[in-house]
Amino acid sequence: MILVLLGPPGVGKGTQGARIALHYVLPTISTGAMLREAISKGTKLGKIAEGYRIDRGEYVPDEIIVEAVDERIEEPDCLNGFLLDGFPRTIPQAKVFAGVLLKKKRRLTGVIDFYAPIDAVVKRFSGRRICSICGTTYHITSQPPKIEGICDLEGGTLITRPDDEPDVVQHRMEVYHEKTTPLRDYYRECGVLHTIDADQDPDLVFRATIELLNRLEAEETLIFEQGKWNV
Ligand code: ADP
Ligand code: ADP
Repeated sequence: MILVLLGPPGVGKGTQGARIALHYVLPTISTGAMLREAISKGTKLGKIAEGYRIDRGEYVPDEIIVEAVDERIEEPDCLNGFLLDGFPRTIPQAKVFAGVLLKKKRRLTGVIDFYAPIDAVVKRFSGRRICSICGTTYHITSQPPKIEGICDLEGGTLITRPDDEPDVVQHRMEVYHEKTTPLRDYYRECGVLHTIDADQDPDLVFRATIELLNRLEAEETLIFEQGKWNV
């Protein structure tokens, strides 16, 4: 199963991605998390990404991110499939990625578009906190840690992501609408877009997602026969 998780910053892609990954035993590839980790470890990708102010919501160039994903999905844990969170984010990324999949003779199962009204989304990322050590995501009210301000897993201090600071968020939403909203139309035209109502409790969002994925799995062979596998 190869899935793309789409939706504005803060809608809950990471939260649902972690649950889907656990359910199907698949890795989640979050390009945002990948970039943050690469920067903090000072890897080659991190040094390149540092030039692009991702802490201000600026996108890194398409070719850099596509190459990083192309390399990542060659790893053995991706053999049975993977989830993509935050990638593709632009139409050029999606088109090049379609070519990457085609070359590897792999097929996109579907694109899940998580939707919630803007005021719900704003509430989510303004309360988002992440572990300063392992990056696990919490929310001050909807997904609080057991001990306030401390990660349940690593014991690290919980911090606000620099790009969740109020002055950056507005810009990120604008970038999302300019660059990523057209992607939704592109995938809709390709016939692979499925919208999930994300404006509900995470358990209910997850249930709706799994129902959809069960349906998509059943349809897989049919989609393949119709020759749409290279979208
Ligand atoms: P969110 O979870 O809030 O949607 P992410 O963690 O996915 O944000 O991404 C954080 C930042 O990393 C983005 O604002 C952008 O600067 C950069 N980034 C992540 N994925 C991509 C991508 N596919 N293309 C370009 N830049 C990206
Ligand atoms: P994204 O990856 O799309 O940027 P996250 O999964 O990081 O979004 O979620 C953003 C914030 O909202 C996090 O603090 C998370 O705990 C919280 N959250 C996620 N899903 C829900 C939901 N269905 N209801 C309320 N809060 C949620």
